[in-house]
Amino acid sequence: MQTQMLIGGALVSGTETEEPILNPRTGEIILTLPEASIAQVETAVAAAQKAFETWSRTTPAQRSGYLLKIADRIEAKAAEFASLEALNCGKPGHLALADELPAIIDCYRFFAGAVRNMSGPVAGEYLAGHTSMIRRDPIGVVASIAPWNYPLMMMAWKIAPAIAAGNTVVFKPSEQTPLTALKMAEIFAEILPEGVVNIVLGRGDTVGAALIDHPAIAMISITGDIATGRKIMEAATKTIKRTHLELGGKAPVILLDDADIEAAIAGLRAFGYYNAGQDCTAACRIYAHASVYDRFVADFSAAVSTISYGNSDDSLNEMGPLISPRQRDRVASFVARAREANHIEITAGGEIPDGPGFFYKPTVIAGAQQTDEIVQREVFGPVVSVTRFDETETAVKWANDSNYGLASSIWTKDVSKGLALSSRLQYGCTWVNTHFMLTNEMPHGGMKHSGYGKDMSVYALEDYSIVRHVMIAH
Ligand code: NAD
Repeated sequence: MQTQMLIGGALVSGTETEEPILNPRTGEIILTLPEASIAQVETAVAAAQKAFETWSRTTPAQRSGYLLKIADRIEAKAAEFASLEALNCGKPGHLALADELPAIIDCYRFFAGAVRNMSGPVAGEYLAGHTSMIRRDPIGVVASIAPWNYPLMMMAWKIAPAIAAGNTVVFKPSEQTPLTALKMAEIFAEILPEGVVNIVLGRGDTVGAALIDHPAIAMISITGDIATGRKIMEAATKTIKRTHLELGGKAPVILLDDADIEAAIAGLRAFGYYNAGQDCTAACRIYAHASVYDRFVADFSAAVSTISYGNSDDSLNEMGPLISPRQRDRVASFVARAREANHIEITAGGEIPDGPGFFYKPTVIAGAQQTDEIVQREVFGPVVSVTRFDETETAVKWANDSNYGLASSIWTKDVSKGLALSSRLQYGCTWVNTHFMLTNEMPHGGMKHSGYGKDMSVYALEDYSIVRHVMIAH
């Protein structure tokens, strides 16, 4: 297994504290990895700064060529990447291979194409005797910091648009899930010029803090917790760094009286519990119309109870464990507090199953009310609440009554009703009659406390570049 970081084109080991890397399916330690020293972080930033001088002057076609090679190399090793991601995150390997790897490979390919096809306002004489034109130029060295839920995909979402736009990167994976990033280090070392991508290991308050405080970092891109996003914003004020924040969600699902209930149950069984609900867009907060509520709760709870997990034959598993004992206990405590309310009924799951690993049973919390903690706060686990509503207006109001603003969905057979309601939801994405589906051509990103960075799509290329005006006097 590749265990070294990537600094200035060289694979090197960290020199500081050893961090245990766990297998969430068994609870066993896979290996320990030393984190980077502050001096190593500084060397990585210096290497990225040096590489920027030449990388920022390459043509879009040249950068595109590198991205395509990276995509091909990941594709050739897709099965290895999927099993490593499964080992480190506990997710079913067959799902990582079928769902995540193709999207990751396509992410590099998308940005390889998109950067050659940027568009903008036309050059012209907006002031008499002067020609104005718009440029989009790279920003500099980007510090990219990723979470543990989709380590390889978050890495692709951050690195592909950043380097496509001509920036160089110092990337820090989550201290809990560095294994696929380290495997990527080999690919980057082999394909990219020295220093374009650097990878350092370490915890947030040591290596992460050193990175975000570094004066030579021009932009910080983070996917993580709201509290971490706040720290990034504070650090960014010191040298006025650009920030790109993706910070969690609590996705509302509005199930109207005319919804196709069977399709909704099949969809929400998948979209509420995929990756054990450790997904910022997870369909975790359902509002069901009173006329369909009882049938929905009964059939949905029965369907959720059939989600398979914990089988020794991984190909049978639909769901993995939580990432750590801490995360599992956090999920369990949310459910325990919800259970205390008289109006709440746990209609599926609601406990830690017997056996090894950090599993939590897929859980449905029925009868939840809008002000309940379980409706308001992000659980980031396999727990979905269901709340009854009478008027559509109330459902829209409750859906928007959240600090989060990342993703949402509406289920109805009347598409015009779905369209009308989608315009009123304050979320970065609204799906109608589906949820959770992403494509590299379309943006992913939030509003409110969910942050404002856009991943995927040309909007990410815009986030990772600066609009400049050049004017020529005739
Ligand atoms: P986290 O905020 O604890 O950690 C994310 C990353 O930030 C890690 O690499 C961590 O080491 C680093 N970090 C932590 N403190 C830091 C500091 N002071 N300075 C610099 N770096 C620091 O989040 P997590 O627990 O890894 O991930 C779960 C969270 O991420 C959830 O809240 C989830 O909703 C959110 N998330 C959001 C999206 C999205 O697209 N909006 C996607 C995935 C996860």
